[in-house]
Amino acid sequence: MPELIEVEAYRRQAEAVVGRTIADAPVLDPLGLRGADPAAVRAQLVGCRIEAAERLGKLLLLPTDGPVVGLRFGMTGRLLVDGGATIDGLLYGGQGDEPAWDRYVLAFTDGTDLRIRDPRRLGGLQLDPDTSRLGPEASTVTARQLATVLAGSRTAVKARLLDQARLAGLGNLLVDETLWRAGIDPARPCDDIAPDEVPVLARAIRATVAELTRRGGSHTGDLQPARARGATCPRDGAPLDRLTVGGRTTYRCPRHQR
Ligand SMILES: [Zn+2]
Repeated sequence: MPELIEVEAYRRQAEAVVGRTIADAPVLDPLGLRGADPAAVRAQLVGCRIEAAERLGKLLLLPTDGPVVGLRFGMTGRLLVDGGATIDGLLYGGQGDEPAWDRYVLAFTDGTDLRIRDPRRLGGLQLDPDTSRLGPEASTVTARQLATVLAGSRTAVKARLLDQARLAGLGNLLVDETLWRAGIDPARPCDDIAPDEVPVLARAIRATVAELTRRGGSHTGDLQPARARGATCPRDGAPLDRLTVGGRTTYRCPRHQR
């Protein structure tokens, strides 16, 4: 669920901890440490001062005077700084708000803390994550960058846009909304996208991210109310197709998305 719009909101929230020093990392869920030893991670974090709050795609980065702390939010992760949450828990429908779901906690020397609360445990914490594995940032993607993302692939365009190693930041809702706005079938192979469609799609990605950021999240798209069985296209009234593309539930208008 957290896509780049939500993670950017977390980044702004995390600016509050810049300048604070980590006293302890009392909670580190081994499931999201990518094989690292929790005790070793904890030892590396203690005493480090947070120097910045940055974002690449859906990855939140907290550079310190020691390692860079990389935070991933998976499907259901939320950031809590000093006990508050930027993004309303209601957005995560019915999952409640249990402190038992705190998977990573950084406690600071001034008594405050930063937490990732994640019911489904698909997020994670990694020291010095390899950011060279991420594609270009989606919110500022250029036509030239997008041409490289799509080049020479028979993969469905939706699957390619979701691949963080190709383009960083988009999730299921932003991709469906963008392709719906651009009039492009999510299942079309990338190498079937004509050269003159690439700048149109790049503009649609940037504009969709910007507009939904202003509206308040990835779930505020025009297609969102129609993401239900039996719904019709908000643009032309055609019954929407519901299919799976790139392993994700996808809504597509058979009339105007080609
Ligand atoms: Zn339509």
